[in-house]
Amino acid sequence: MGHVKLHIPGPVEVSEKTFRAFRSPMIGHRGQGFKDLYAKIQPQLQALFYTKQLVFLSTSSAWGVMEGALRNLVSRRVLCCMCGAFSDKWLDVAQRCGKQSDALKVDWGSPIRPEQVEAKLATGQFDALTVIHNETSTGVMSPLAEIAALKRKYPEVMFIVDAVSSLTATKIEFDALGIDVLLAGTQKALAMPPGLTVFTCSPSALAKSATMKDRGYYFDFVEFQKNAEQNMTPSTPSIGHIYALASKLEDIFDEGLEARYRRHAQLAELTRQWAAGHGFTLFPEKGFESVTLTCVNNGARPGGRAVDVATLQKLVKDQGFLIDGGYGKIKGTTFRISNMGDETEATMKQLYSALDVAMKQL
Ligand SMILES: *Cc1c(COP(=O)(O)O)cnc(C)c1O
Repeated sequence: MGHVKLHIPGPVEVSEKTFRAFRSPMIGHRGQGFKDLYAKIQPQLQALFYTKQLVFLSTSSAWGVMEGALRNLVSRRVLCCMCGAFSDKWLDVAQRCGKQSDALKVDWGSPIRPEQVEAKLATGQFDALTVIHNETSTGVMSPLAEIAALKRKYPEVMFIVDAVSSLTATKIEFDALGIDVLLAGTQKALAMPPGLTVFTCSPSALAKSATMKDRGYYFDFVEFQKNAEQNMTPSTPSIGHIYALASKLEDIFDEGLEARYRRHAQLAELTRQWAAGHGFTLFPEKGFESVTLTCVNNGARPGGRAVDVATLQKLVKDQGFLIDGGYGKIKGTTFRISNMGDETEATMKQLYSALDVAMKQL
């Protein structure tokens, strides 16, 4: 069987153009060629993050920087906002790092609401919080701007935000939001191979990091800042990824950010319509559906029965497309369809046709 096209919510399909850039001939990471490459993409990265801060390149998957943010910024106690598998895991990671932590936990399918965050922050116990903008396991997008607005009232709290599956698909204005860390791995909404994470830090996050004695080396934010000022990274980066990123940024700015955001919103809407057309309901609470993936309940439809997710997946895979069969405790009772990266109305329609064929066979 040939390549099965990825419509799982990460990794997603990588274009030929990106792969060509990825395999560019190697250069030294302390040489002028590398500095020129980083310097060329820095303004584009800053435009993407809507920031004047330097954007850093970490050769790691997102978890590296997610763990690093805790080690750089949590000295007293971190509040972990939990609404799905990835955000739940962040509490576990904080505990493994020996950090004092507390959970703000909502049912999977619900977003994190600013009132809930405020009630916790008002206790005065916390100097950091973690929040995932787009919880990939449940397909829920939390209202980031409303949560970030609390930063003004709690300036000493470090707001650490994961936008792994939303950065580039919807607008996230780092400076205007006033948050402290924003990070994204590259294999999801950015449609690159896994292994690189892009992130940025506020001046106060960098200042706080400098006071932390046990922040380690590989993910030391102060090292990232010092090196980025010279268009370098602390250690040898995955240079292929950075060529791929330069190519992807070219694509993103050729399309235009606003057009890219509109495209993702429209494609997610098409997937929701496909689901509704087959009598399915969505897992996320209404009004908080992601724009990059759709998490669909397999449940009994009006006048019908629940679909067997594994069979649906197989029938679609036989036609050359991979969809996801649900994550963690909602595996088998939900399925997820991604429209991240380079998907268009035409490519999504090919997927819906394959899903239609599969539904007839179920
Ligand atoms: C995939 C994902 C992660 C973890 O990314 P890794 O690449 O496995 O480190 C974290 N947060 C979100 C929201 C994700 O979707």
